[in-house]
Amino acid sequence: MTQPSTSLPPHVAVIGGGPAGLMAAEVLSQAGIKVDLYDGMPSVGRKFLLAGVGGMNITHSEAYPAFLSRYAERAPQIAPLLRSFGADALCQWIHDLGIETFVGSSGRVFPTDMKAAPLLRAWLKRLRDAGVVIHTRHRWLGWDDNGDLCIRSPEGEKTVQADATLLALGGGSWSRLGSDGAWMLALEQRGVGLAPLQPSNCGFEVQAWSELMVSKFAGAPLKNIAIGLNDDVPRLGECVITATGIEGSLIYALSAPIREAINQHGSATIHLDLLPGKPVDKIQSALSKPRGSRSMAKHLHSQLGLDGVKAALLRELTPADCFSDPALLAKAIKALPLTLVKTRPLDEAISSAGGVMFESMDERLMLKQLPGVFCAGEMLDWEAPTGGYLLTACFASGRAAGLGMVEWLKAGGKL
Ligand SMILES: Cc1cc2nc3c(=O)[nH]c(=O)nc-3n(C[C@H](O)[C@H](O)[C@H](O)COP(=O)(O)OP(=O)(O)OC[C@H]3O[C@@H](n4cnc5c(N)ncnc54)[C@H](O)[C@@H]3O)c2cc1C
Repeated sequence: MTQPSTSLPPHVAVIGGGPAGLMAAEVLSQAGIKVDLYDGMPSVGRKFLLAGVGGMNITHSEAYPAFLSRYAERAPQIAPLLRSFGADALCQWIHDLGIETFVGSSGRVFPTDMKAAPLLRAWLKRLRDAGVVIHTRHRWLGWDDNGDLCIRSPEGEKTVQADATLLALGGGSWSRLGSDGAWMLALEQRGVGLAPLQPSNCGFEVQAWSELMVSKFAGAPLKNIAIGLNDDVPRLGECVITATGIEGSLIYALSAPIREAINQHGSATIHLDLLPGKPVDKIQSALSKPRGSRSMAKHLHSQLGLDGVKAALLRELTPADCFSDPALLAKAIKALPLTLVKTRPLDEAISSAGGVMFESMDERLMLKQLPGVFCAGEMLDWEAPTGGYLLTACFASGRAAGLGMVEWLKAGGKL
């Protein structure tokens, strides 16, 4: 067994070395606390590094009210975290690490070189210099009967005593990077209120594409389209046809309401506008022009520029008799109904919804059932679209939980 801490300075365990856990370790070490950080993987920050592969979008430059609205029904719980460490504070923190940022045309904020690795390297050096000890290949398994932490390490299983513990174990997607949601069981057994983990920013499946859609168009990008769900104003963007359905940024942005509609009704119908720049009457008059002996495919191509995957989708989702009626066909082009029946598996998702319910924690992010145990990051029950909102809330909650722990240790006379 690892030796218990001998009162001063207090010794705390942070479990999970993603952005949330590392940020918590930073504020704790700054308060003079001895921090041991444990991560089950051979290195920390793996999902953070993966996020940097396609261009690390670390936060967003939009005004605070719009920014906060991205957290939807969890906005009231996320607001205090962002007020203390929002997008501007995060950018300043990145600059202090020697990494410059820029705002892209969409308002998204990126490190200048778009990568996560230089930032993580500089950060880990600063943490180690501050005395944070990082134990990789140390997987937390739960608590023993004495309330000590059970850890599996390369040397075998051991228990660790800490004055306080901060869990930042991530969500349930991309388990090969370390966050597999296995922590749910240990918390459930201790009576912590949890919402089931569900895919967020994820792809969806249709009942079945035709053989032609799968063989010719799986992987095809659908550019410059708009998608509407219910009566909401359709959103512009792009997505990708997959062998089982549809995915990509525009679908991710709508993933929460689509998933909830499927949960409630068993399916969700989205409407694709294949020509968002053209009003329906213009489309109808273009389609009404005589096509002579030309095929309908050629007519669609020459009059409207509709071909490839867009034309295939139109064929796939529109009854054959619509093709002889320009008014009906124009309507179909502007609002092509696509019924989605399930999410792709959680492990494939960019992030997960669900996790530790805010009602289970106090305002310091300490579990009410387990005094001295704090939680942060994606393992909390919130979700947000891509655009830097995920990382911002992970950093902000890691900082809030770390500061909450400092306050709790002080109140208990341990600091
Ligand atoms: C492909 C992809 C691209 C993304 N791009 C972006 C982006 O551009 N912008 C953005 O804002 N967000 C992005 N995200 C989301 C973002 O990376 C995550 O929301 C964020 O990393 C979550 O941080 P976290 O600290 O809560 O958890 P994680 O980063 O998942 O870290 C959790 C850590 O806990 C460790 N752990 C888990 N269980 C245990 C255990 N039992 N014992 C010990 N250690 C354990 C894991 O090994 C891991 O290191 C992306 C995600 C993916 C998958």
